[in-house]
Order: sequence, then structure tokens, then C-alpha cells
Amino acid sequence: MEIFEFISYKDILDILGVSAIVYAVLYFLRITRGIQILKGLLLITVVWVVALLLDLKAVSTIFEKFWTVGLFSLVVIFQPEIRKTLSRLGQATKLSTSSSVEERMVERIVRACSFMSERQIGALIVIERNQDLEPILEGCIRLDAIVSVELLITLFDPLAPLHDGAVVIKGDRIAYASCVLPLSKSPDIPKKYGTRHRAGLGISEESDAVAVIVSEETGEISVAVGGKLHRNLDPENLKLLLLKELGVSKALSNYLPSIDRLHPPKAKGD
Ligand code: ATP
Ligand code: MG
Repeated sequence: MEIFEFISYKDILDILGVSAIVYAVLYFLRITRGIQILKGLLLITVVWVVALLLDLKAVSTIFEKFWTVGLFSLVVIFQPEIRKTLSRLGQATKLSTSSSVEERMVERIVRACSFMSERQIGALIVIERNQDLEPILEGCIRLDAIVSVELLITLFDPLAPLHDGAVVIKGDRIAYASCVLPLSKSPDIPKKYGTRHRAGLGISEESDAVAVIVSEETGEISVAVGGKLHRNLDPENLKLLLLKELGVSKALSNYLPSIDRLHPPKAKGD
């Protein structure tokens, strides 16, 4: 083909480079409030162009003098997000291991919720996705612990000091317990649901997080995501929904460390 005479391996590298940059920018915008910032920047650019076209000397001079300062400020403001994006891009090569971590985590959450549902122990578990939840959460107690079935159940034990409020999972760790979440103001929530369900729905409206709710009154398991409440889930449906929302499509890993055993095999003679 003639076209290949004009394209060298350098051009292909160039195209791949541009694609990587576009991907990184889009990824960055997705995990941050970048879209809002982009809108702001577009508005400033429009004002600048209008000022240039109309030859408004003072306004154009201000823009010319300050655009480097503005760019520098953006980098400073977004320093945590830039670091997060770069580290995530770096981890992209380790996708296979991270998804099995998520599978194990989902398995543990489902087992803990089934246990609590059967015994009508109220629970609210929030799983962080791309958006950082820290600015939305209040009154949390920091834990930074491995996600295990036993720990989740213990945290929601009605006699335990941390049982009130939500547990927040970040990555593969239980980051916080006892968090106060924003309550949803939606008028569509049935009357029988109280503040636990409103809190789960609230965080799903204000962020991309997924909230699993176990009702203390009925044992019903629900999941709030994107401002919608998926109600009355059995453990199998809960697992499928969480795997789907966390983007895990592979078959469940069978490996679970022994710490996770809810019912250890009975010793002979028990
Ligand atoms: P249930 O079906 O379990 O009774 P519900 O939706 O009816 O749930 P309530 O009975 O009002 O809700 O549940 C109260 C509990 O919900 C509190 O003890 C607390 O643990 C939790 N909760 C209430 N408000 C918040 C909030 N803003 N953030 C996190 N958790 C909350
Ligand atoms: Mg109630």
C-alpha cells in the first residue's frame, strides 16, 4: 500500500504518544472536578479572545501577564489529583492483580452483609470509586484496616462504639468508620426508609461511590448508586451488582485467606 511509504515508525510512535496524552487528560478530567475547571478555562479563553478581537488593551494585558501564573496555580491546586492520576496510570499494567483484589473484597462485603441481614444488624458500607470522598465525609474515625468479614460485622455490632454511621472502603482497605454522610433530599424515597437509607442515597448523589445498606428493621439489603436505590437484593444479586459497578467481569477468585472464614469448620466431637 502506498500510504505506508509516507508513514514511518516515528509517525506511529507520535500518534501513540498523542493518544496517551489525550487518554491521560480525559482520565484526569474524569476523576477530578476537572470538567468544571475546563468550563471555567473555556470561559476565560472566550473573554480573552473577545478582548483581543475588540483590541481591549487593558484586559488583554492582564491576561497576557497572568496566564503563566494561572497555569502554575492550576498545577498547585490539582497537585493531589495529578499525583493520583499518574500513580493510577502507572498501575494500569497491574490490572489483573487489582481486579482479583476487588473480587475478594466484594466477596467479603457480600458475606458480611448476608450475615448482618439474617440477624437484622443495620449497616452502611460506602465503596469509594474514582472521586475522592474525603471532602464529603464528616466525623469519621480513621481505621486503615484490611477488609475482612469479621471486622465489617464487628464494626456494625450495635454494642460497638463505632457502629453508628458509615464504614468507608478505599481501594482494598477499610479507611474509616462512623462517618456521617450527606442525607438525600429526594422526595421519591418511600416513607418506610429512614436516615440510613437517605445517607446511602445521599453519598451516591454527591459522588460516584457505591453504598451498600442493610436495614436493621427488615434485614433488607439495598445498594445506592448514582442517586438510585436498588432494593431487596439477595446475596447473589448483591454480588453481581457490586462486581458490575466496580468493573470486575472475571470469574470470582476462589482464594480467600483464612482470616476471612466466618464459620470455621467444626472440630470433631463439637
Ligand atoms: P433501618 O432500616 O436500618 O432502620 P433507616 O433507613 O430506617 O434504616 P434509621 O432507622 O433512621 O434509618 O437509622 C438510623 C441509623 O442510620 C443511625 O443509627 C446511623 O447509624 C445511621 N445514620 C443516620 N444518619 C446517618 C448519616 N447522615 N450518615 C451515616 N449514617 C447515618
Ligand atoms: Mg429505621
